[in-house]
Amino acid sequence: MKAENYIKFEFPSRSVNEGFARAAAAAFAAVSEAVTNCIVHAYPDSLGKVTMRLRILGGDTLEISVKDSGRGIEDVARAREPLFTTGGEERSGMGFTIMESFMDKLTVRSKPGKGTTVTMRRTIARRTRA
Ligand code: ATP
Ligand code: MG
Repeated sequence: MKAENYIKFEFPSRSVNEGFARAAAAAFAAVSEAVTNCIVHAYPDSLGKVTMRLRILGGDTLEISVKDSGRGIEDVARAREPLFTTGGEERSGMGFTIMESFMDKLTVRSKPGKGTTVTMRRTIARRTRA
C-alpha cells in the first residue's frame, strides 16, 4: 500500500533514544487522529483554524493539545466510546480510542458551536536516565 503521508527523523544510537523513538511514533499516530477529527468533524464544509500546542511538563512529560473553533461535540463521553461515530460508513469511530492507547492521558473539552480542545500527555523519559 502506498503511504499518503509520512515523516522521517534520525537520531544517534543511544539507549535514551529508544524511548524517544517510541514516544515520537505514538505522538504521530495520536496527533494524526486529532487533526483528522478537526478536518472532518469540526469544519465539515469549510476551512477553519487548527492550533497545536506542544509543551514539556516537569522535564519528562510531553503534552500536545489540538484545538479547533468548529462545530463542537454535544456529548463528549459518548463520542469517546469505541465505535461511536457521526461520520457514517467512511469512519470507524476509533479515533479517540487510538489516541488513548498511544498516550498516557487524554482530555477532551468541547462546547457545541464553539469548538473542541483535545489534550494528550505522555511520559517521554525518566529523569534518572541519561
Ligand atoms: P475514525 O476516527 O475512526 O475515522 P471518528 O472520527 O468518527 O472515526 P473518533 O475520532 O473517535 O471517531 O470521534 C468520535 C466522534 O466524535 C466523531 O464521529 C464526531 O462526532 C466527534 N468528534 C471528534 N472530534 C471532533 C471535533 N474536533 N469536532 C467535532 N466533533 C468531533
Ligand atoms: Mg476520528
